[in-house]
Amino acid sequence: MAAARSIYLDHSATTPTDPRVVEAMLPYFSDVYGNPSSAHRFGRQAEDAVETARESVARILNCRPSEIVFTSCGSESDNLALRGAAWTARQQGRGYHLVTTPIEHPAVTRTVQQMADLMGFESTIIPVDRLSQVGIEDFAAACGPGTTVASVMYANNEVGTVQPISQLAALAHERGTWFHTDAVQAAGQLPLDVQQLGVDLLSLSAHKFYGPKGVGALYVRDGIELVPSQSGGSHENGRRSGTHNTPLIVGLAKALEIAYEAFETYTAHYCDRRDQLIDGVLRHVSGVQLTGHPTRRLPSHASFVFDGVDANALLMHLDLKGIAASSASACKTGNPEPSGVLLAMGFDRAAASSSLRLTVGRQTTAEDIDYTVSTLVEMVARVRQLNRERA
Ligand code: PLP
Repeated sequence: MAAARSIYLDHSATTPTDPRVVEAMLPYFSDVYGNPSSAHRFGRQAEDAVETARESVARILNCRPSEIVFTSCGSESDNLALRGAAWTARQQGRGYHLVTTPIEHPAVTRTVQQMADLMGFESTIIPVDRLSQVGIEDFAAACGPGTTVASVMYANNEVGTVQPISQLAALAHERGTWFHTDAVQAAGQLPLDVQQLGVDLLSLSAHKFYGPKGVGALYVRDGIELVPSQSGGSHENGRRSGTHNTPLIVGLAKALEIAYEAFETYTAHYCDRRDQLIDGVLRHVSGVQLTGHPTRRLPSHASFVFDGVDANALLMHLDLKGIAASSASACKTGNPEPSGVLLAMGFDRAAASSSLRLTVGRQTTAEDIDYTVSTLVEMVARVRQLNRERA
């Protein structure tokens, strides 16, 4: 009997930790276990590892090591960027207006919402078009004299669209606004040179680029004093307190190095598998639309909506056939609410409840994609048939 298939196409939710990364981390659990803040040799050894990791991340981002803050995840990096920069700007009497988009991860949208609800900030949510692109004119018009921080994600986690970050950052700067980008999905797939991007703040999360879960980083341009959102023993130059997690920080840096050393090879592989998948689905499945931008999209990312299909039912059927995918975003799986991102892009509620995200990875083969396309043809037909029988 043939072995059961197991095909992981949910790399936007998380990636497996690269064995080279695990190997790099291992000594920092039980051998080099000192607290990096301790003055003795055990501490200094751990501190060296943290600082080497910081230098390595800074090299890839083309910034100074002092501009990197290690955090516990991408969500924390987003929270710290927004709260920290907006609180500083307000203290400096520069204003209290924030600009963002309706397609950001909840780590941004809910933070902005909370700052408006509880802390007296004002916000403008600028629209996106059918392909999930932020309008340059809308962005420019929203950033006024009292706008202190604008946050627009580099690439979207649900539909994969890549935003014109350097253009937006330049517009923000002309208006005296600091520019933050959530690069959590972009890391490992798009260039991360912060000078070229022109951003002031940029968030990363290791588990999206074959690093460990539970560690992130925030780039903070020199000259921006962040008010810490987590206070304590003044780690990370007072910007983020909490004992450094040496093994995870080492793992983040190692994963980023691997991703950018072989950047062309990995991204070419992702694009090949992604295009095979998109072509196959559009050619063989009826009543389907690609969501997000057809070309300005993440190398690994394919996403669709299907006429007359409930996404949760489709996910369940795919899972039974050994295919791991997701709908809208992993955080929302099991939630019957339609995707807010798709609604913001102008899809109706039925379409926004029928989304499927398939994201390829380093191990994804051409055979995996062939199997996925043929299974999707079958499963979409089955879910539609079940719907008709129930109606
Ligand atoms: N931002 C984006 C765009 C994401 O896709 C995610 C995770 O899915 C996050 C932020 C949150 O990252 P973390 O899971 O490390 O908190």
